[in-house]
Amino acid sequence: VRVLVPFGRTRTVGYLLAVSDRTDIERNRLKRALAILDREPLLPPADWKTLLWAAGYYRHPVGEVCAAAFPVLLRQGGEAERSQVRRLKTTVAGLQIAPQELARAPRQALLLQWAQQHPEGIAEAELTALDWDWRPPARALIGKGWLELVSGARAIDPVLSPPDWRPDLNGDQRRAVDTVTAALGSHRSFLLEGVTGSGKTEVYLQVVETVLAAGRQALLLLPEISLTPQLGQRFRQRLQIPIALFHSGLSESERLQAWLAMQRGEARVLLGTRSAVFAPLAQPGVIIVDEEHDLSFKQQEGFRYSARDVAVMRARELAIPVMLGSATPSLESLANVARRQYARLHLPQRAGGATAPRFRVVDLRAQRLDEGLSPPLLDAMATTLERGEQVLLFLNRRGYAPTLTCHGCGWIATCRRCDANLVIHLKERRLRCHHCGHEQPQPSDCPACGSDDLRPLGLGTERIERALAKRFPDVPLARIDRDNTRRKGSLEQMLEDARSGRTRILLGTQMLAKGHHFPAVTLAALLDVDAGLFSTDFRGSERTAQLIMQVAGRAGREQLPGTVILQTRHPDHPLLTTLINHGYGEFAEAALAERRAAGLPPYGYQALWRAEAGQPEAARRLLERLAERCSNDAALAVFGPAPAPLQRKAGRHRFQLLLQADQRPPLQRALKLLVEEIDGWPEARQCRWALEVDPLDFG
Ligand code: ADP
Ligand code: ZN
Ligand code: ZN
Repeated sequence: VRVLVPFGRTRTVGYLLAVSDRTDIERNRLKRALAILDREPLLPPADWKTLLWAAGYYRHPVGEVCAAAFPVLLRQGGEAERSQVRRLKTTVAGLQIAPQELARAPRQALLLQWAQQHPEGIAEAELTALDWDWRPPARALIGKGWLELVSGARAIDPVLSPPDWRPDLNGDQRRAVDTVTAALGSHRSFLLEGVTGSGKTEVYLQVVETVLAAGRQALLLLPEISLTPQLGQRFRQRLQIPIALFHSGLSESERLQAWLAMQRGEARVLLGTRSAVFAPLAQPGVIIVDEEHDLSFKQQEGFRYSARDVAVMRARELAIPVMLGSATPSLESLANVARRQYARLHLPQRAGGATAPRFRVVDLRAQRLDEGLSPPLLDAMATTLERGEQVLLFLNRRGYAPTLTCHGCGWIATCRRCDANLVIHLKERRLRCHHCGHEQPQPSDCPACGSDDLRPLGLGTERIERALAKRFPDVPLARIDRDNTRRKGSLEQMLEDARSGRTRILLGTQMLAKGHHFPAVTLAALLDVDAGLFSTDFRGSERTAQLIMQVAGRAGREQLPGTVILQTRHPDHPLLTTLINHGYGEFAEAALAERRAAGLPPYGYQALWRAEAGQPEAARRLLERLAERCSNDAALAVFGPAPAPLQRKAGRHRFQLLLQADQRPPLQRALKLLVEEIDGWPEARQCRWALEVDPLDFG
């Protein structure tokens, strides 16, 4: 339970994990709690165990771990109460009345009809949103005994009308569903591997149906729910029950209500992003992690945990199955399959008769480019558009161009606070730093030599958008990136226009690569794959392969065959040739062999110690002492300290120290000691440090 406790001059919310009647702390230093905030424990014992495991494994203060597990309002001491809303519902008598009988009172007829279509009732908020006053007609209908106003806990998301079609599972899907449902009631971990469109979601749906039929709940984690509203819709339609949502697009109180609805068992299914992995389950049935390879499951600041890994540990603690799904599984999960810790379920073919897309590599060295677009790509676009189909172009760089340079003296516009170039945003005539948010007007003359010959270097989505508008002036185009979708609802509108076919060319960043289903896209192109081919991060090739396959997965999802064009200056790069000729599976096998030979994850275990400070020496000193401290531990390999890839960010100097071991236990033991010791070190007070276990991103 939560307790309110005095803390310095203020008060704060604490978590009461255990009660003891002895202590070594002097009596006069103990303080009394001000209040106990919960009458009932917020989480069952198994979930507390998971939290304590996470605090130990990630070496993070248990209070912050608990805080991460609770919605903000609970963290702040808010009441764990379901809020009540009033709903207008038909009575049994009201269901028998044909609305036409009320022809002389059209608003009453409308309300009655509306209520009949929504047996669960219409929320007051929806009624107040009408442009006429619903109260008088409602009062009349209530008087007749046809409607009633009921109060109840806030409903989650209303049920949608059922779909008119549900597919018959193919043999592979059937086997996957049967294997997972056979494991209900005990712990097992599954990796569902299937190309985009192979029917993974269909497998989730049927597993969840069985879980629901057994009176249990399902927790589904997705990378970015707000990007894929159709998925929530598909679940609501198929399952015919209210579904709780938990993601950053909701208000704090909505998140709290979804959390409580699962805790009380009032909602049976929760769809959520990373932090939903901690949502309580009154009757746990299954946990599903879709797109398990996705980086968004990793919390990148504060309590740096992997929601996928926590999901697996939590499922073990709860004795329920966990299913990880992906078209491009992480090498970690594939290694776990090889070690027989996960059972592999495979969907090798696209479902419903769609065929796999064809790859085409365009060697940019031999081409005359128009703003980064090669003639073969432009030709393919033209024929695709002529056929009435859609084109999707991917470039993971927003803005107009990543660099502004002076043709006279070579000056480059850089951020004052970061070791980074400023990105040109042409429409606003501004230069922006994508690392710290700094921005300034675009200069018209070079600040170094005064020349007015300033030129943009490189390509961003805004620049491609302009080039395409010239090339295909009559073709409706949508640019989908973070700059262009800031306004609430604008992304939904763009996605809707894309799905309906109104938009013909879709151009975008990561936002466009993931999870969407655009039926008429038959040509997908990656405008610049080279950026990913020569990464300094050992995970660079895995990321690039995943990205290429994700973008490819957008092409040809229904009856129309798809083509994927890769623009590169390195057409013979082994990553590309393996991926294209043999598929992701073979790429992954080769990549795993390399990792094994190098002792890198998943065959080695890492922890990254980061430190940053206004003065570079302050950050470096702490890591040097840590490195020194580790040097006599034979089980540890120590790399660094070294400057972070972006050494200066927002005016702070950043360094890192990498610790690696062949096994988890010696690394865990070393971290435990170091974290306890470091608190007493003066060096630790002169910088900000953070420890990340199983780091995925060294940025
Ligand atoms: P994934 O999640 O692997 O991308 P989906 O479950 O979304 O795949 O399925 C892709 C498409 O194929 C969807 O339109 C879905 O309705 C359809 N589909 C799935 N399974 C079948 C099946 N067994 N028969 C026919 N169509 C199917
Ligand atoms: Zn100059
Ligand atoms: Zn900056």
